[in-house]
Amino acid sequence: MTKTNSSPKPLAEGFRGSKLRLAHIYSAHLNIYGDRGNVISLVRRAEAHGLTLEVEDINIGEPEKSFKNYDILFIGGGQDKQQELVATDLLKRRNELSDCLEAGLAMLAICGGYQLLGHYYINSHGEKTPGLAIIDVVTESAPEKSSAIGIKQLDRLIGNVVAELVVELSDENSFKGKLNTLVGFENHSGRTGSLPQHSTKSTISSQITSRNKPLAKIIRGHGNNGEDGYEGANYKNLFCSYLHGSLLPKNPHLADEILIRALKYRYGELPGVFTHVDSEFEMAAHKKALALH
Ligand code: GLN
Repeated sequence: MTKTNSSPKPLAEGFRGSKLRLAHIYSAHLNIYGDRGNVISLVRRAEAHGLTLEVEDINIGEPEKSFKNYDILFIGGGQDKQQELVATDLLKRRNELSDCLEAGLAMLAICGGYQLLGHYYINSHGEKTPGLAIIDVVTESAPEKSSAIGIKQLDRLIGNVVAELVVELSDENSFKGKLNTLVGFENHSGRTGSLPQHSTKSTISSQITSRNKPLAKIIRGHGNNGEDGYEGANYKNLFCSYLHGSLLPKNPHLADEILIRALKYRYGELPGVFTHVDSEFEMAAHKKALALH
């Protein structure tokens, strides 16, 4: 992926060889449509910037692995059943996670993992899974339907997505002002909207609060609910998205943003410029995805 033979000048000397720690939480249950690729992408981009990103998995029943020991958390997407299994364990760690996020921990949450950070998730059978209420969103799936010959049908939001970033990139991010689109693939039955007025009868309210600012505005695709034109959510250094594929290999600006936020969380202000590293392959993939319909 990231070409390293152009010997990018990594961060100011002070950071050379600096370490960051990432935990891929619930990797055994929430990890579909190549979501693990986000972790690989962060490791590679960290390397290109002269950083070492150590990765560990945290799964159900591992409270001894405290979220406080990490600078970045990643949670992927999954089927309804997997989300239910994870939700019980994650709810027990709600305050631990909330404290870390309030302190500035960097986190990326994709699709099913994103939905669990809201107030609740109701699946296509009408079953409700309580969420962590860290972000002010709720998710409801369109009810399962039966076709004329009785075949069960799910009304899922599927396809390629192009969106325009709403979140502001850090001044240290070399893509700032240069790359403002987000590309990826979505496949979800859940419709995510703001708390509490929304309903699936197209009265999705997009009441934006500090706890559910959108990540991006939809240019092509469905996004959060196919109605209010938003994709994902952002709260402090928490980035949530419906985009699989995986997301970061095609969106190097967001990968760098997560690394910059994690460095500030761990080391304070960045003494120096987060040098631009060659992103030939990432940009080629981004351009290809922009052209997809
Ligand atoms: N099960 C959830 C839904 O269908 C999330 C799916 C996913 O993570 N891709 O909406």
